[in-house]
Amino acid sequence: MAEEALVNEIRSIDAQWGQVCNQLKMEFGETAFDSWLKPLSVGEFDNGVMNICAPTAFMKNWVVTHYSDRINKIWEQHNPNIKKVNFIIQTGFSDRRSTDTSLLKKISSTPTPQNIYGCNINSSSFGLVAGSILANDSNKNANASTPLNPNYTFENFVIGKTNEFAYAAARKVAESKNVSFNPLFLYSSVGLGKTHLMHSIIWHIKKNDPTRNVIYLTAEQFVYKFVKALRYKDTAAFKEQFRSVDVLMVDDFQFMGNKGTTQEEFFHTFSSLVEEGKQVIISADKSPTDLEGIEERLKSRLVGGLVVDIMPTDFDLRMGILKKKAEVLGIDLPQKVAEFLAQKITSNVRELEGSLKRVAAHSQLLSGKEITLDMTQDVLKDMLRSIDRKTTIDEIQKKVAEHFNISVKELQSSRRARTVARPRQVAMYLAKQLTSRSLPEIGRKFDRDHTTVMHAVRKVEELIIEDQSLAENIEILRRTLEN
Ligand code: ADP
Ligand code: MG
Repeated sequence: MAEEALVNEIRSIDAQWGQVCNQLKMEFGETAFDSWLKPLSVGEFDNGVMNICAPTAFMKNWVVTHYSDRINKIWEQHNPNIKKVNFIIQTGFSDRRSTDTSLLKKISSTPTPQNIYGCNINSSSFGLVAGSILANDSNKNANASTPLNPNYTFENFVIGKTNEFAYAAARKVAESKNVSFNPLFLYSSVGLGKTHLMHSIIWHIKKNDPTRNVIYLTAEQFVYKFVKALRYKDTAAFKEQFRSVDVLMVDDFQFMGNKGTTQEEFFHTFSSLVEEGKQVIISADKSPTDLEGIEERLKSRLVGGLVVDIMPTDFDLRMGILKKKAEVLGIDLPQKVAEFLAQKITSNVRELEGSLKRVAAHSQLLSGKEITLDMTQDVLKDMLRSIDRKTTIDEIQKKVAEHFNISVKELQSSRRARTVARPRQVAMYLAKQLTSRSLPEIGRKFDRDHTTVMHAVRKVEELIIEDQSLAENIEILRRTLEN
């Protein structure tokens, strides 16, 4: 009986995973799906935590950085019991359930992409040599590799105030044979176009100067290759490969890790390339000086070239990007909808693009149903809700104080007069509703303990039922805070 329940649970989880996968495929496209998401499999579901297995550490990190938020959210929609999705590494997919059901077998036997470490960009005329070391690793499918994204070109990169300098620097490096700054170090938080610019540089070189030898890889791939070379006592070939390039590009440098010998090797490779006048281009999520676990001498070499950051997007750039992406997707995006998205989804371009793709997919699924504001709000409601959850307690205090015509200081004070105490309770209530902060955290912002907050939340919940006018005030506040 217990076994049957388990099989049922597994079956429904498999079915859900299938649905999650379909949605992911729609949102991110077949190529990304096949490279990164298809090889994942479902593992144990325990106490609200759903484990997803990735075949390698690199893949796991990639999925966590790029897809985990969406996977979490989509899955939560299908099964509210899933509180958290956890990613683990599991080689060989020997998961506990592989013998339980055929459904599971089907999922867990999804072929592992081979050679994902080597970005063998697969062009014989173009000297992209990365991946060749690892070509031997993949006895089944030597050609499967992380492809260059064909959409990541300079032409498709929308320029705005926050990224124009990075764009200009990337273009300059791509266009000139002579090295003007070395290295070019690009940094920004996630989803703001570093990888896009790096691929653009390669596409440009590939088109205009195909004899130039370029290696593009992530720091993690570099580490992996080096460790592998050490293990197989093949460091000579490794050095030879890296030191004979014209352009070395290392993406996501923050994953270079603390590995002493690898960093040392990178340092030497880097120095020798720079000395020979070869171009090095690096991207990371922090400036060289803020990178953790990187040796000082390497840091000081990294700042020796041109360090450029991409800042968070502004409204105009987001509008520009939406227009461009809508054009590429071939969809008709009304100005109002574009403005709405550009106003709401400010975190990064990847999320902005993801939301547009979801809306587009939805309209296409409903055979070209017109994209409207209502439909957009409906399709994106979970995403929007989670953005709204990012409302801060400070903002809530400010808006509530304004609304009730008192100062934020009074709101945080110990005064018990009704004119101050009630707004304070409302602010605490809204903080509980609109943020993911805990009661003690909210309490601290008001210089109170968590029991006071709990009491305030209960009190307001009661008052909303009895006091129509207060209920309306709260509703108005909620709407302004959510906009
Ligand atoms: P990062 O490497 O900084 O995390 P990516 O280069 O992967 O970010 O960018 C995330 C997504 O946003 C990609 O799909 C990319 O095409 C898109 N993107 C970012 N900036 C721009 C831009 N300025 N114009 C067009 N697309 C952009
Ligand atoms: Mg990137």
